[in-house]
Amino acid sequence: MLLKKWGTALFAAAMTLGALPMAQAQELPCGTDLMVQRALADQPELRENLRRLEAETRDAEQARRQGRVASTDTLRIIPVVVHIFHNFGSENLTDTQIEEAIALLNDRYNGRNPDTAQVVPEFKSRIGNARFEFRLARLDPQGNCTNGITRWVDAAITNAGGENMKAVVSWNTRRYLNVWVARNAVSGSTPVNGYAYYPGTAPNPSREGVVMRAEVMGRRPNGTIATTLPHEIGHYFNLAHTWGNSNSTGQASNCNIDDGVDDTPNTSGVVGFGCPTNYAPCGTNSNVQNFMEYASCRFMFTAGQCARMRIASQSSLGARNNLWTAENLQATGVLLAPRPCPPQVAVSIPATVVCPGQALALGANLVAGGQDSTQLRWLLPGSSPDTAIGLRATARYTQPGVYSIRLIASNRQGADTLFFRDTIRVLSGQPGYQPGQAEDFENPTWPQLNGDSTQLWLREQPAGTPGWQRSGLVGFASPTALRVQPILHQAGSVVAITTPAYNLATIAPTAVLRYKYAGARRALGDVDVLRLFVSPACNQPFRLRTTRSGAAGGPTAVYTQQSLFTGTYRPTASDWRTEVISLNGLQSNAFVRFRFELTAGGGNALFIDSLVVVDTASVTALSAERVPLLSVAPNPAQGYTSVVLSDPARASYTLSDATGRLVQQGAMSAGRATLSLRALSPGLYMLQVVQGSRRWQERLLVQPVH
Ligand SMILES: [Zn+2]
Repeated sequence: MLLKKWGTALFAAAMTLGALPMAQAQELPCGTDLMVQRALADQPELRENLRRLEAETRDAEQARRQGRVASTDTLRIIPVVVHIFHNFGSENLTDTQIEEAIALLNDRYNGRNPDTAQVVPEFKSRIGNARFEFRLARLDPQGNCTNGITRWVDAAITNAGGENMKAVVSWNTRRYLNVWVARNAVSGSTPVNGYAYYPGTAPNPSREGVVMRAEVMGRRPNGTIATTLPHEIGHYFNLAHTWGNSNSTGQASNCNIDDGVDDTPNTSGVVGFGCPTNYAPCGTNSNVQNFMEYASCRFMFTAGQCARMRIASQSSLGARNNLWTAENLQATGVLLAPRPCPPQVAVSIPATVVCPGQALALGANLVAGGQDSTQLRWLLPGSSPDTAIGLRATARYTQPGVYSIRLIASNRQGADTLFFRDTIRVLSGQPGYQPGQAEDFENPTWPQLNGDSTQLWLREQPAGTPGWQRSGLVGFASPTALRVQPILHQAGSVVAITTPAYNLATIAPTAVLRYKYAGARRALGDVDVLRLFVSPACNQPFRLRTTRSGAAGGPTAVYTQQSLFTGTYRPTASDWRTEVISLNGLQSNAFVRFRFELTAGGGNALFIDSLVVVDTASVTALSAERVPLLSVAPNPAQGYTSVVLSDPARASYTLSDATGRLVQQGAMSAGRATLSLRALSPGLYMLQVVQGSRRWQERLLVQPVH
């Protein structure tokens, strides 16, 4: 029974992935119901907000019907900011396209879109007028000039934009309606046209707002007008779909779900995004042409829907009632005449360590100033070419060394200059180590190899933490070794070190990387994870080769010493273990790098020493690993776990509980994901990872967080 349910979840995940490449070519559903249901499952207390909003709505409607309050139809101005995540494709909508999308939106929220003429007679008298006017902000949260549009260069996020966009930028949602735009919008990992949270149902206030797929923001490339933005903003102001909320249209059971609006007939919802205006699945004709339908001909809100939205706009839930206050209209500048702003830029640098000749794609994030009117000039000394004009530039360096980048943005209102001093490190194209050449960390010039500044052990750690260090405390065969102290790093943070390159051009299939390691805990609950990755060539990604975690002293342990150490830990001779990594499959590669990654879990210290590539027939050559490895650690886990797939291609994960219920899903980023487990009850879960036609599953034990 259990397996069958897991099988179903897996099928759903595979279908989702299969749909992704089609995202540009077809109509996509709305992700609101999925996202709201997930938020309510994670935080059941949010249900109270929905209940309160429904009660407020009922009371307000009753009061108006009984004439106890004057019906107000004053115009409400809503300040808007649009955040575009792009990689320089057509998803990087121009300022003009966004302004047009807002104008089209305003027509639809004031019942003045000409296509209301096409509304069938039965519904013509019900056409409503919400009297909302959306205006792009003219002042940002700091009070600086803005055109209400921010732009972010991010190839990964624009391909799957959802909650990840909100983590990058979110203007105070009490003051702005935030609209986040990506080339492909996703709810979880499901491709969608867009989604929004009902007022007060977002996982936290910074996530209130609307996520949109760029192609359906306003006028489509073929000239037709998309109505996804009015639809999603309808959800933002508490409108359900006309068939009420269920996961799919066309189900007979939808006829029994009400959308809380009197003048929208119950329906099961249009299937297949057509325009069947005589569609009557629940007895009476559906209002197919409603913005809250799934039809291709959406022209209207009903008066009842408009009343419901206006009531939501008076609610403190999700702070909708703050948006249109006189004070907020002043603060966001929407009463000012549109005016140009001086530019304000940030730079997207995808990598700061590159190989000779490798193309480095740079992009300008434009936070103010307007894309259409701002000139950008890049100065790239040492690169060929060494200048570039426009939002993006490609740097390419032939000589090892350290380089700076300057970006100057200017328009008629002013200029903004960014200078990144000594930010790009170009590696030597030559290997630093030959087979048989051992590294014992004796040389005091480390992390330079033999004092060569172009041959470096590259260390990466969160700012202000020590990371991996050369330690004179103890070594395997000499007084020094490489050491990291997990206790000095926040739990879950990644602390990495990458070797200079090894020349494996002439090794035999039996050659191995051999090294010593040792480690000890401070407390029984420590859960450090040590992973080894390999990159076969200078510009090739790192892939997982082995994971050390689990029970102290066990066969895959990272803690080779079983005792606990709260003071300084010095491995004894018997603590050192030998790790042997097959290099079969890497023969003929002259630039192979190894990367050790600690996922910190509170332990005392880990040591690595005596690295060497040896050609030894005494070790049976392992066959090259054809099937990518999945590593889930720590497991058992408290609060978080990290998932790594050795193949960095597109992949997604799902996490299901013991009853088979899906509790979490998402996309892997470059083969990695860190899962927050804080909202989950302790117990056994099943993690599934899907990549193309391959899939993995692993049990994950979630333990209580103390
Ligand atoms: Zn929807």
